[in-house]
Amino acid sequence: MARLVMKFGGSSVADIAHIRNVARHVRREVDAGHAVAVVVSAMAGTTNQLVEWCREAAVLHDAREYDTVVSAGEQISSGLLAITLEAMGVNARSWQGWQLPILTSEAHGAARILDVNGAELTRRFAERGEVAVISGFQGLHQETNRITTLGRGGSDTSAVAVAAAIAADRCDIYTDVDGVYTTDPRVVPKAHRLDRISYEEMLEMASQGAKVLQTRSVELAMQKGVRVLVRSSFDPPDLGGKKDAEPAGGLGTLVCHEDEIVEQNVVSGIAYARDEAKVTLLKVADKPGVAAQVFCPLAEANINVDMIVQNVSEDGRFTDLTFTVQSADLDRALEVLRKAKDSIGYLDLRGSTDIAKVSAIGVGMRSHAGVAAQMFSALAEKGINIEAISTSEIKISVLIDAAYAELAVRTLHSLFGLDSR
Ligand code: ADP
Ligand code: ASP
Ligand code: MG
Repeated sequence: MARLVMKFGGSSVADIAHIRNVARHVRREVDAGHAVAVVVSAMAGTTNQLVEWCREAAVLHDAREYDTVVSAGEQISSGLLAITLEAMGVNARSWQGWQLPILTSEAHGAARILDVNGAELTRRFAERGEVAVISGFQGLHQETNRITTLGRGGSDTSAVAVAAAIAADRCDIYTDVDGVYTTDPRVVPKAHRLDRISYEEMLEMASQGAKVLQTRSVELAMQKGVRVLVRSSFDPPDLGGKKDAEPAGGLGTLVCHEDEIVEQNVVSGIAYARDEAKVTLLKVADKPGVAAQVFCPLAEANINVDMIVQNVSEDGRFTDLTFTVQSADLDRALEVLRKAKDSIGYLDLRGSTDIAKVSAIGVGMRSHAGVAAQMFSALAEKGINIEAISTSEIKISVLIDAAYAELAVRTLHSLFGLDSR
């Protein structure tokens, strides 16, 4: 007998027929003798609608009330799945974040999980053979006794946190694609599924825009050593029900330690993001302390800055400074910089959202030189201008005009030999 967490995303619980299908996947694992905790997202489209209603009610609303509203979608799907499982003869009980509880920080809208009461779940497995159906995305801030949410896509993180809390053998993330691909399969039909991907690469893929897993969930899985299997809920529910914890070979993508992966390309995947915005400060003084005067007020306003480029100064006195922030933070960033104009001293301030970030990711880059050169040459050949570059040990990202995003992704996907044959 193994302990499993099974997480189902919004498209997997889109309506009652889909929920029935999910219940069959759950029944398969229960019938195989496993103890199962299920984590569900809201039905497809529900969270977007709830977010939209908050905006419609008041553009600037209290984050505590935002969480009250947007957490509601998961309450519906967890209750419906528990009802469906019971109707199929599977013992099940729903749990909201506040009931278990899943304790979080107070950062409404982007809370971090602090603790999950796994003991209650394991007791119920043992005493009643009961499947726990847990609402993803939600938590409770204990001191204020308020509902919190974990940020968009946060049910992945709920699932990994539950898996860590009950020492699960595996955390299965069921979604609408059958695994992690070399790039978004909706953009590049030639993308292929990876059998395995390392935590480090998955972390870069997620943080550079591959939304198949929330970044925080990968971070947590890596930190706690949770084995994550990404697979499709649209596969027939009778696939992969084995007595041991390991799934049938070739099913989904296992996110695991690097040393468990035998074959390794230099580049494992290409990610892209369109949700960043570019800010340019024209003619700032080229002297010590100016960067601090620009970035300190942004940090104080809790605005994350990603890529930064400073032009070479032509006259040794002035330079231009360009950097990126999340699009959602652009207006606030411009406001902060306008207020700090006198202390920074610049000629003009510009913001634009017509940009995309495209990244090549692979642990093989640690031991291979020349990846960046290859990448820049291929983009140049297609006439794609690079506006900024950032790198890590296993990643190279370029900032380009949004209009070229798909062309750049396809070009790099072919360049690094990732197209399926
Ligand atoms: P869920 O609702 O199940 O949480 P998401 O929409 O959050 O599902 O994530 C799944 C989507 O992620 C896929 O439909 C796919 O378009 C997108 N995606 C982006 N990059 C990748 C990738 N590298 N591999 C697989 N899917 C990807
Ligand atoms: N329902 C939430 C969202 O749409 C959480 C999730 O699906 O993971 O962001
Ligand atoms: Mg998701």
